[in-house]
Amino acid sequence: MLTNSLVELDRRHLVHPVSSFHGHEARGVRLLESAKGARVTDAQGHELIDGFAGLWCVNAGYGHESVVEAAAAQMRKLPYATGYFDLGTEAPIRLAAELADRSPGDLNHVYFALGGSDSVDSTIRFVRYYWHAKGQPERDQFISVESGYHGSSTLGAGLTALSAFHEGFGLPYPWQHKISSHYVYRNPIQGDQAIIDASVAELRAKIEAIGPERVAAFYLEPIQGSGGVLVPPKGWVKAMRAVCSDYGVLFVADEVITGFGRCGPLFACADEEIVPDLMTTAKGLTSGYAPMGAVFMTEHVYQTIAEGAGAKAVGHGFTYSGHPVSAAVALEVLKLYEGGLLENGVKMGQRLLAGLDGLRDHPLVGDVRGRGMLAAVELVTDKEKKTPLPAELQPATRLFDRAWEQGLIIRSFAQGIFGYAPPLCCTEEEIDMIVERTRRVLDLTLEDPEIRAVL
Ligand code: PMP
Repeated sequence: MLTNSLVELDRRHLVHPVSSFHGHEARGVRLLESAKGARVTDAQGHELIDGFAGLWCVNAGYGHESVVEAAAAQMRKLPYATGYFDLGTEAPIRLAAELADRSPGDLNHVYFALGGSDSVDSTIRFVRYYWHAKGQPERDQFISVESGYHGSSTLGAGLTALSAFHEGFGLPYPWQHKISSHYVYRNPIQGDQAIIDASVAELRAKIEAIGPERVAAFYLEPIQGSGGVLVPPKGWVKAMRAVCSDYGVLFVADEVITGFGRCGPLFACADEEIVPDLMTTAKGLTSGYAPMGAVFMTEHVYQTIAEGAGAKAVGHGFTYSGHPVSAAVALEVLKLYEGGLLENGVKMGQRLLAGLDGLRDHPLVGDVRGRGMLAAVELVTDKEKKTPLPAELQPATRLFDRAWEQGLIIRSFAQGIFGYAPPLCCTEEEIDMIVERTRRVLDLTLEDPEIRAVL
């Protein structure tokens, strides 16, 4: 009864993010009730494995009492303190210091936002300010990568390269440019080095076409997430960084998904052996227990902005920048990562990838890829031709529903790609369940008459 009335209230009043409004009304909300570790329970009492950690964010897993205690203690003591007017409090200061200590190179300065989108927006504003401070305000052109995702706020959504975020919104802006994705599986160019060389040539050509003196910054995700978990060839990120250094273009790494153990280390840039000029993080920063994002800047970027502003205020800030409760949560979550979760994530990530790799023999599996606890299985109807599932069969909802029925939550991308980002706390048994349930979903999909008709 309660469930029915909630479904009805949701239908009437709650606007869901990135959804077809009418499609959602027709399907109705799926109500989640509680969670522990890597498992969530819905309103009917069914237990599911959360193979996607919420929205690739609950990296530490659900139900950590120490995190709840840290938030409650901070709320009791001081629920809010602004960072305006030279004010501050312990938790965000300690968090900034702990993060700076662990970040690549001299990314020593941290600006706190509320999530990933406003972290990206903050970098766009800081980049513009930086070039003004350097006396080169004409550097106002930005480049990002096709299939990339950099959030849903207006400026960042233009750097995002997914059509649903542009169509009807008047985006991208003319100053937002794109280069092709590496998308190894579907790249007409074959071979890691050939793909790297082609991307280097394309980025150089793009910078030259815009005019090197006009280009402000280049953005990438170390692994593209929302575009379908696209893992670049080893060395691709480093090669892109080198092009930016050549032209003096700022290099921004968006680690909103890849950060905080998702791909193994605390930051994926460490694996790539690069130091970005700016870096964005969110999601795993608080493991989804509270909203928060963090923008990192190198010493040089920070000092240039500081000197440019002089005694004037740099006019960028939010009421909730450095929220003490979110900061207290992040400090506690960091302890969990370093208390064994990162290590477990590396082991479980290897098991997950090996398990998914074992699905390659399935007639519907075209590709398996991933790094750490971030992975994807790409479905095709013809392996030779790499034919994607037809869009009219709505693979995203069809496959999501089927997985749900098997007690598995995965990300189901529109192109017929399963995305995996399980909590780092998963046990071996849970990883094996994710793989087994995926096989069952694939088998059931193969029996689906509408899918059979297009094989
Ligand atoms: N950047 C990347 C790489 C992301 O994956 C996301 C979210 N999926 C964002 C930015 C935006 O983060 P948020 O949804 O917290 O605003």
